[in-house]
Amino acid sequence: MDHVRPQRVIVVGAGHVGLYAALRLSRRVSPRRAEVVVIDPQPHMTYQPFLPEAAAGNISPRHSVVPLRRELKRCRIVSGEVTRIEHDRKTVTVQPIEGPPTEMTYDHIIVAPGSVSRTLPVPGLRERGIGFKTIGEAIYLRNHILDRLDVAAVTPDAAVRKASLTFVFVGGGYAGIEALAEMEDVVRDALPTYPELRQEEVRFVLVEATNRILPEVGAKMGAYAARQLDRRGIDLRLETRLESCVDGWVVLSDGDRFKAETLVWTAGVKPSPMLDRTDLPRGPRGHLTARPTLQVVDGDRVLDGAWTAGDCAQVPDLTKPEGAYCSPSAQHAVRQAKVLADNIRLVLLGGEPKPYKHKYAGSVASLGLHKGVAHVYGIKLTGLPAWFMHRTYHVSRIPSFNRKARVVADWTLAFVFRRETISLGQLHEPREEFTHVTPPLTSDRPAEPVGAGTR
Ligand SMILES: Cc1cc2nc3c(=O)[nH]c(=O)nc-3n(C[C@H](O)[C@H](O)[C@H](O)COP(=O)(O)OP(=O)(O)OC[C@H]3O[C@@H](n4cnc5c(N)ncnc54)[C@H](O)[C@@H]3O)c2cc1C
Repeated sequence: MDHVRPQRVIVVGAGHVGLYAALRLSRRVSPRRAEVVVIDPQPHMTYQPFLPEAAAGNISPRHSVVPLRRELKRCRIVSGEVTRIEHDRKTVTVQPIEGPPTEMTYDHIIVAPGSVSRTLPVPGLRERGIGFKTIGEAIYLRNHILDRLDVAAVTPDAAVRKASLTFVFVGGGYAGIEALAEMEDVVRDALPTYPELRQEEVRFVLVEATNRILPEVGAKMGAYAARQLDRRGIDLRLETRLESCVDGWVVLSDGDRFKAETLVWTAGVKPSPMLDRTDLPRGPRGHLTARPTLQVVDGDRVLDGAWTAGDCAQVPDLTKPEGAYCSPSAQHAVRQAKVLADNIRLVLLGGEPKPYKHKYAGSVASLGLHKGVAHVYGIKLTGLPAWFMHRTYHVSRIPSFNRKARVVADWTLAFVFRRETISLGQLHEPREEFTHVTPPLTSDRPAEPVGAGTR
């Protein structure tokens, strides 16, 4: 009989890598051999390629996330943030969403906390910038932009009206371009319900430091996307940087200066800062360095039991000349996750891990309803076919049949009825009502329930 203690595999982060790796491992390895513990502060995995569609209202925000407890039934889910990894002791420190921090030991660890927005010390960004990496940010952006239309429609102040109708997006990768194109489409759709506003007053500006957009779909398709956006009246500022945005005054490196009430920052990503709080070695750009087998390495030495993949890792791209690494993309993250899970299984069974090798297939991007651009396996598509390919590809990729069905249902409904273009701004101030009736707590008044001790 097998009396061996199950090995504990801790998964840090349940994103594209974490969810897929945990799912595969828990399905392919018996619980007597491995216990899979998934730690993430969010109760869901966010399918990030659907964030622009969620912001646009084409799909419900709830349907672009995958609930961990429902999907990872054979794993232990811990709702918290890993604040430290001490691989020397094979121990993680977890800050649960409530309560004191706890320590947990492991035999294997999958480090997959992904990336965060790469920010620069631009004055005013901290107060004015809106990120676009989480479902919360997508919901906020939608409400904020639609809210600006309401402000512009009623204000008697021409300057406020102009600033409210000026929307600036910084960064021309797929996150920035898809978000901008979808939101421009939404505003265009909403305007007929605002007789006070005219389309010519609306101004969308894209600020991009390089001389091209959408590098993910190649130079030719990127140029096509730029022409399409230009035709829609979007102001493309290539080879331009945002210098500052203090009090909403946008100052660009080309000398232009104007006021905007919306500034979305999507200028690239960098590895999660959580990696600073580990004793794992880091590469020159802050990533964990991995072997093609997805094992973390210190120089030439493979660290026993440490695995990584996705946006926080530098994984050699074996389809390219030596020195090339896989790009931070869902396409690589999901495929790496599968190889990673299989490799841990092999090691648990006493085998040798296998290398990850995948030739980047290209990319698809939506440019709003019925518009898109795609360059996949050498095939270039534009317009409706590209948009259709974008939807088909991503619905096939979002985990679980449940999510696929819900997303398709959302799209079908949005096809039959027009999509909703109202802001739910109150979501951000749920206690507003009580501030009028309840005096604030003061330090000399104990915070005990009124009537405590009485019947
Ligand atoms: C708007 C947008 C659109 C995109 N579109 C595409 C696309 O069309 N095609 C494509 O290939 N790629 C796309 N990407 C990129 C793709 O989503 C990422 O490359 C991919 O998500 C990386 O996967 P990951 O598992 O490394 O990180 P993520 O999926 O970001 O997951 C990281 C997880 O770690 C958790 N976490 C973070 N810190 C901690 C901590 N301290 N403790 C515990 N958990 C933690 C987070 O909560 C998160 O759940 C897009 C990205 C964005 C933002």
